[in-house]
Amino acid sequence: MPPPVLCLSGLDPSGGAGLSADIETCRALDTHALPVATALTVQDSRNAVRAVPVATALLAAQLERLLADVCPAAVKIGLLGSLSQVKLISGCLRRLSVPVVLDPVLRAGGGGWLVSPVLARALCEKLLSQVTMATPNAAEARALAGCKGLDLAAQRLLAFGCANVLITGGDEPGEQVVNRWYRNGVAPRHYASPRLAGGFHGAGCTLAAALAARLAHGDQPAQALAAAQRYTYRALQGAYALGGGRRIPCRRRFGTRP
Ligand code: PLP
Repeated sequence: MPPPVLCLSGLDPSGGAGLSADIETCRALDTHALPVATALTVQDSRNAVRAVPVATALLAAQLERLLADVCPAAVKIGLLGSLSQVKLISGCLRRLSVPVVLDPVLRAGGGGWLVSPVLARALCEKLLSQVTMATPNAAEARALAGCKGLDLAAQRLLAFGCANVLITGGDEPGEQVVNRWYRNGVAPRHYASPRLAGGFHGAGCTLAAALAARLAHGDQPAQALAAAQRYTYRALQGAYALGGGRRIPCRRRFGTRP
């Protein structure tokens, strides 16, 4: 059986980010996505302009029914729609002792904000302590931590109790994209790769879902990070233009090497 991965994310009608990214990535990495929509969004390949939360009572009923039947091997959390969703999911994670990846989606790559500052704060205060790996991009890390320096931002996020923080650098300038892995008491590890031309819609979701899939297979964090970044890079290399905006990662299976 492919290990099940509980995916709590927003639904993006362009199919680039959110739940579609999770489902495709999980499938490509031999896991089974359990897709639970947290929000419906209004967006295209250029930008997101609106996110409407799914009612928390409906989410609670879905989770109760699903988790009574299936035991996930990992959880991936993306866009969350409301404070009550954060509270519900925090309670749910307390009952599941499996790796959790949180992609703290605050803003679409096109610039549209999807999450209020109050909700962003709740992600830190109520969820981070239950998270195995948080994957903010540089702008999200700065916004969550309330500071400019990435090292300091990571230390502040770790101080909320999160075990690992990967700050992705796709949204930073430079010829290379540098992702930074932070843990308590260990020097940060940098992963540099040549920057691919153009912009991508759903790159962060792909990386976080790939991490959850590898953790569901039992990888240790270092192994999962290497495999997930390799997978995401290949998906971006094969990205295709769907509409007039950023390209969509090609989330297919790439050979046998995870
Ligand atoms: N919409 C949803 C539902 C998402 O989960 C995300 C995630 O990161 C985005 C939009 C933003 O994606 P991007 O920044 O790649 O455009």
